[in-house]
Amino acid sequence: MASNEHLMKTYAPLDVTFEHGEGAYLWDSQQQKYLDALCGIAVCGLGHAHPAITRTICEQAGRLLHTSNLYQIDKQQQLADQLCDISGMSRVFFSNSGAEANEAAIKIARLYGNRNKVENPAIIVMEHSFHGRTMATLSATGNRKVQAGFEPLVQGFIRVPYNDVDAIKNIADSNNNVVAILVEPVQGEGGIQIPASDYLNHLRKICDRQNWLLMLDEIQTGMGRTGQWFAFQHNNIQPDVMTLAKALGNGVPIGACLANDKAGEILQPGNHGSTFGGNPLMCATASAVIDTIRAENLITNAEQLGSYILDSFKDKLSSLDGVREVRGLGLMIGIELEKTVPSW
Ligand SMILES: *Cc1c(COP(=O)(O)O)cnc(C)c1O
Repeated sequence: MASNEHLMKTYAPLDVTFEHGEGAYLWDSQQQKYLDALCGIAVCGLGHAHPAITRTICEQAGRLLHTSNLYQIDKQQQLADQLCDISGMSRVFFSNSGAEANEAAIKIARLYGNRNKVENPAIIVMEHSFHGRTMATLSATGNRKVQAGFEPLVQGFIRVPYNDVDAIKNIADSNNNVVAILVEPVQGEGGIQIPASDYLNHLRKICDRQNWLLMLDEIQTGMGRTGQWFAFQHNNIQPDVMTLAKALGNGVPIGACLANDKAGEILQPGNHGSTFGGNPLMCATASAVIDTIRAENLITNAEQLGSYILDSFKDKLSSLDGVREVRGLGLMIGIELEKTVPSW
């Protein structure tokens, strides 16, 4: 039997190994069956071993895995077209993870500021946010546990409480080096925190007035999970920049940084790149994810099933000892407990 002996101790995994999956179910090495409510941390939105995804991966792997971004990649162009079509954005940069998608967003904001002659451009970020584990994204993250021991952190982030419009207005009045707001429409790792229904609308207005970029981290809220393709679509606004990963590939590693006309022209040849980012295998798979969400009407499903589960959870769990609150949007649902569980 293999063990953890030669793995760095970045995780403290539970003593269970899954051997196969189908739809919403997983089977462990003892053939015990589980209902998978975690979905690989919001990744496997279509479930496990979805035939359309398996078929696409097999076909693409048999044709072409990787050529590099030095050549045209039709699967990448096709996926960018699809993503812009469903989001209303204009241009896409592809990465291999969520943190890297956010790195691209942060670099866009920095370049935007520096090109506009803003000295020491700063990005407003939130308490209890999560944006990743690279140096810039952990510095943007509002969780000391993620940052502790990795100082010096990357400079240029101003932190405010989540869902607090006035805190941002105060900064707008007193600082002239802010260039962007980076925010999750619903905080995921922060504990399924749902802001006021007009929070994003207020942020949009402030960004318009101040000429800041509104950058939404939809890595966890995107790809249909909340009952819209993207959570900002509940608010009838458009961000300037949006990042995706997690459910975009249903299990293959892919991230994306999308931008509108204004922000999409900022990165030019030589400013940014990735060896693997946007390779044919990942892009063909993500295209199949979008096609499948559409073909199976899964956005409506997330909305309907989500409110059914949320109502049922509220009904059956809210009054139990130890349950503080049940909350959610679509199929992004959390049950806040009195007791904290050991974190991984
Ligand atoms: C998971 C997550 C990330 C980081 O994505 P990785 O692929 O783990 O780098 C960033 N932002 C949010 C909101 C996330 O949920």
